[in-house]
Amino acid sequence: MAISSLDRPLGRSVSVHVAHGNGAYKNTLAVLEQLDLSFVRGRRVLLKPNMGRIAEPASGVTTHPQVLAAAIDAFRDAGAEVALGDSPILGVKSHDAFEASGAAAVAAQRDCPILDLDRRRYVNVPVPEGRAVHSLKVCPDVLEADVVVSIPVMKTHMHTGVSLSVKNMKGCLWRRSKVELHMLPPLEGCDEKPLDVAIADMASVLRPHLGLVDGTVGQQGLGPSAGQPKPLDVVLASTDAFAADAVACGLMGVTPDDVPHLRLGAQRGYGTIDMNQIVVTPDGWHDWASSFLPPPKDLAIEFPDLTVLDVNSCSACQSTLLLFLKRHRDRVLEYFGDDNEATIAIGKGHTTVPEGTLCVGNCTARHRDHCCFVPGCPPVGSQILAAVQDRTGTNQSTATQ
Ligand code: SF4
Repeated sequence: MAISSLDRPLGRSVSVHVAHGNGAYKNTLAVLEQLDLSFVRGRRVLLKPNMGRIAEPASGVTTHPQVLAAAIDAFRDAGAEVALGDSPILGVKSHDAFEASGAAAVAAQRDCPILDLDRRRYVNVPVPEGRAVHSLKVCPDVLEADVVVSIPVMKTHMHTGVSLSVKNMKGCLWRRSKVELHMLPPLEGCDEKPLDVAIADMASVLRPHLGLVDGTVGQQGLGPSAGQPKPLDVVLASTDAFAADAVACGLMGVTPDDVPHLRLGAQRGYGTIDMNQIVVTPDGWHDWASSFLPPPKDLAIEFPDLTVLDVNSCSACQSTLLLFLKRHRDRVLEYFGDDNEATIAIGKGHTTVPEGTLCVGNCTARHRDHCCFVPGCPPVGSQILAAVQDRTGTNQSTATQ
């Protein structure tokens, strides 16, 4: 697929269609029936769900399988050749994520192929309008599709505010290159976080033709993977992914302008988030809104019995640590014992740290002589666990990420 056609939505509409209350399959068909899908006839459609992690169906982590079932059926009925595909986070195999989510089963019932987007070598795609990134390593199947449909789960996100159809396209980036967006240096003369700018940059070349947002069971709080499920029984769609995300924000109790990557992308003209320019059907869609708990602003509030010293860390380090503490906080407290303050350091800017600190990530290596150092860039949860278990003598083969 030519980049230019990915760069320009086929539809010019700023209509957004919302359906509620009839379950994932019927809601999805209801919104897709309102769109003119004739442009997909005879074309290769890639359905790009959120299959970034291994999670059970309807847990608010991965796209609901019945949303995908309905999308396969609707795009095939419209005459398209349909495939599913995603590139999960580091350490997760695409096949395992599709199996666990129930997506593999609905695809098999329909004889619909599932593409492991990571299986072939990336294509380097220039980003001429990029400010934080100037090229991206993109999975080739994405570029070869005629039409890409982004099908995210409606989530809050600890680094980007929300994760919806624009952000979901990050799963089109090849393997580890996704993490690189979380490790960018601050931008000179720019107060925006580099990750937010990078996602807006990405939207200049990887903008889906259609956003189909799955709010069957969303995720609130500590998204994208450690939050709480938020059942909403809603699905919405638009050929303008920014407009779809803006309406999804409205359903979540979030102001779209407060989401930096949406605001930056809309300012550059990649789509609209101005609710005055978006026609939402049906009129009463606001009645289905239910505020999502926001992500916590810092780790210390989330874990009051631990001190996290964070000086200029990347969001990749923060995610790893947050997820790790969510699962293994007790192990960390056990490691420090009753007599020591539990102190963890991440980030590039530590000149000193207290003796005995758990130093996580390569940037803290200089303190390794008087601390417990866990290498990695970004570090992985299994190594942090191994480090604390080694010290407490509880080492066992527990896999974590
Ligand atoms: S160790 Fe962490 S803070 Fe340092 S560069 Fe790597 S991800 Fe960023």
